[in-house]
Amino acid sequence: MKYLDEYRDRDQAHQWITRIQRLASRRWVLMEVCGGQTHSLLKYGIESALKDDIELVHGPGCPVCVTPIGVLDQAQELARQPDITLCSFGDMLRVPGSTSSLLQTRAQGGTVKMVYSPLEAVSFAEQHPERQVVFFAVGFETTTPATALAVLQAHQLCLKNFSLLVHHVRVQPAMEAIMQLPEVRVQAFLAAGHVCTVMGYDTYASFVEKYQVPVVVTGFEPLDLLAGIHECIRQLESGNAQTSNQYPRSVRLEGNLSARQLIDQVYEVNDQEWRGLGEIPESGYRLRAKWEQFNAGKRFGMMPAKVQNDASLCQAGEVLSGQMRPTECPSFGKACTPETPMGAPMVSSEGACAAYYRYRLPIIT
Ligand code: SF4
Repeated sequence: MKYLDEYRDRDQAHQWITRIQRLASRRWVLMEVCGGQTHSLLKYGIESALKDDIELVHGPGCPVCVTPIGVLDQAQELARQPDITLCSFGDMLRVPGSTSSLLQTRAQGGTVKMVYSPLEAVSFAEQHPERQVVFFAVGFETTTPATALAVLQAHQLCLKNFSLLVHHVRVQPAMEAIMQLPEVRVQAFLAAGHVCTVMGYDTYASFVEKYQVPVVVTGFEPLDLLAGIHECIRQLESGNAQTSNQYPRSVRLEGNLSARQLIDQVYEVNDQEWRGLGEIPESGYRLRAKWEQFNAGKRFGMMPAKVQNDASLCQAGEVLSGQMRPTECPSFGKACTPETPMGAPMVSSEGACAAYYRYRLPIIT
């Protein structure tokens, strides 16, 4: 574990914290885009160590949290059909739709199989030609190449019993939507390192120019995050917003060209609905017409997912757009806990509410 330990070194973390505290002349507002970063910031006590110097607000980068209720209902509807096996990553199983979750659907007789990769679902379809297998394809640009590969693999195997229910989302349009909110307070972004590993960060140049906010590509370990925060503060203090890569061991300017090409081969950009955030232009992917035979909605004659506003007391939209801290939600830790979640941000392993609930005690400080 030497490699990881190097990025969790306590002394170096304290040095970074001191540097940031010396640099910040005022309390700046930074948004970490990715839920994985939120968890690290809470887990290692970075949030609390810097609370007097910066305000960290949490972004929409949790794929489970932003999948709309209507799409979850569609997944459950598919799972209830007797000849269909609905395959999904584990995180999606407990997320409430309009009346129940996939786990509850399974308890009521639906067929839901947890898988660790889209190719596992393809393999299951190959081994079970008597069943229709639908993979619930959700996630950001990090998971999109793998589901594109699953389509190509199923095509190569001439599978007639494999399809996808697609709700892939793109991170940069969501950042745009946040910057266009009338009450936006975000002054700099810690961009999601793993998304940039796939997509690169060359496209952020126009974003930075338009909104004059620093975008700093950042990893997930404590020292990665502290280096990213330091770079944000440095730029904010100098009044010179730029794109910067503080995760060079994983991210290149142009990203992973093979993965990008794979996405383009199978998907095209479309407008997408986000749970709690509404429709965001060009913020998602749908299957290209060439691959429509793998569209589960078309195959099973489903109408497009009905958009349903979350009628519960859950205030996920405010949390996911950085307007509310999880602890400011009246239900946090009372009616809403990981055992009794009222919304996706408390269910998901990348959800901001779950991070606040789980990490009470700082480790670094
Ligand atoms: S604490 Fe629970 S109810 Fe409140 S925003 Fe988070 S998930 Fe929703």
